[in-house]
Amino acid sequence: MNANSEFDSELHRTAIAQLDRVAARLGLDADIHGRLRYPRRALVVSIPVRMDSGKTEVFVGYRVHHNTVLGPTKGGLRYAPDVDLGEVSALAMLMSWKCALMSLPYGGAKGGVRCDPRKLSMQEKENLTRRYTAEIILMIGPDLDIPAPDLGTDEQTMAWMMDTYSMTQGKSVPGVVTGKPLIVGGSAGRREATGRGIVYTLYQAARHLGQELRGRKVVVQGFGNVGAVAARLLWREGCTIVGISDVKGGIWKPDGIDIRQLEAHVAETGSVTGFPGSEPISNSDLITQPCDVLIPAAVGGQIHEGNADRVKASIVAEGANGPTTPEADVILRERGATVIPDILCNAGGVVVSYFEWVQGLQYYFWRESEITARLQEVMTRAFNRVWALGSKEGVDLRTAALMEGIKRVAEGYKVRGLYP
Ligand code: NAD
Repeated sequence: MNANSEFDSELHRTAIAQLDRVAARLGLDADIHGRLRYPRRALVVSIPVRMDSGKTEVFVGYRVHHNTVLGPTKGGLRYAPDVDLGEVSALAMLMSWKCALMSLPYGGAKGGVRCDPRKLSMQEKENLTRRYTAEIILMIGPDLDIPAPDLGTDEQTMAWMMDTYSMTQGKSVPGVVTGKPLIVGGSAGRREATGRGIVYTLYQAARHLGQELRGRKVVVQGFGNVGAVAARLLWREGCTIVGISDVKGGIWKPDGIDIRQLEAHVAETGSVTGFPGSEPISNSDLITQPCDVLIPAAVGGQIHEGNADRVKASIVAEGANGPTTPEADVILRERGATVIPDILCNAGGVVVSYFEWVQGLQYYFWRESEITARLQEVMTRAFNRVWALGSKEGVDLRTAALMEGIKRVAEGYKVRGLYP
């Protein structure tokens, strides 16, 4: 079977290769395997946006549903300069395995708009988001497909999406998106959920490896929603955060970065770079600096064949989606590093998105302590299931997590059968 050319991209080839490898190990039915390699549906839209200059610029956007076998689809919306159909399709596939692994009643989806959000004003971002939402409106809905924030999007983006959708329905429909502001039906703890989930998986990994998390040296690539929260929580837990970066560059401080001071610096300057008392370092050099835990929490493909043998961390916690290439995965495994795979490590976001969706449907909201306790329970259970399967089958955590997720989706296909 060849990867279908419409969806071809590096990340899609990686996602297909992972699926094929795990399908062979699971002895998956060939017909079901064939169906899982394709998205169920994909929409490509052009988005005319009135810019502040008065001119109209056209952007390209996507929304992809990978499968709907376990329920409505769920997945983030990404604003980035290099987004394409293949990347969005691959991320939608990963969402399918992630939701199934976490036992959530969702299929996988993803959206993207090719743009550089840093170059857009608030007004331009709002125009873009509203028109994109209008263009994909047939694809989304509270029991159809529920977007959430991802790279380059945030609570405000979700509020605009919710408002645009609601206007077309003549009523307020909070359940159409998750990760929205609290005031319009967001969930306590959603903003911190992905970073918090990473910390819970790290706790479990350290426990299984007979280590203490406290006192470990940590490097975090990316200081956005995911990276900043993970760094703050690990710093509070007594880890030493020795290096951090964002899109503008990195900082290195072997005696530890005070995250509260760094947050103030970022609020003032817009970047981690230039943090007093730190040395500048490039994003690529940061990956191979000496540390115990490496958390890639920015974009895909950051740990690759060219740098994996120089990664010093004994634990790699994948906050980002697809940060490790398949070649690098093999090298890390041979070096004895423990990689907590993306579909497990960063699943805290979709778990609390699920809580938000459930709360919204019931118009009954939980306290943050309840959310956090439930998140911890779900993440810990999933981690321990994956660890046990990995030990039983003699495979790494990524293979075990994919086996568990893909198997559940395949079982869903099997019992539902083929229409018509
Ligand atoms: P964000 O936009 O809030 O932050 C991204 C961070 O990465 C910023 O600090 C940015 O400056 C930096 N960055 C961007 N491009 C970079 C590059 N080329 N090199 C180095 N740094 C770069 O995004 P986020 O929501 O924190 O998402 C980060 C990653 O986590 C993405 O891969 C996303 O798919 C994944 N993820 C996010 C969530 C979520 O709930 N937000 C959930 C699961 C996975």
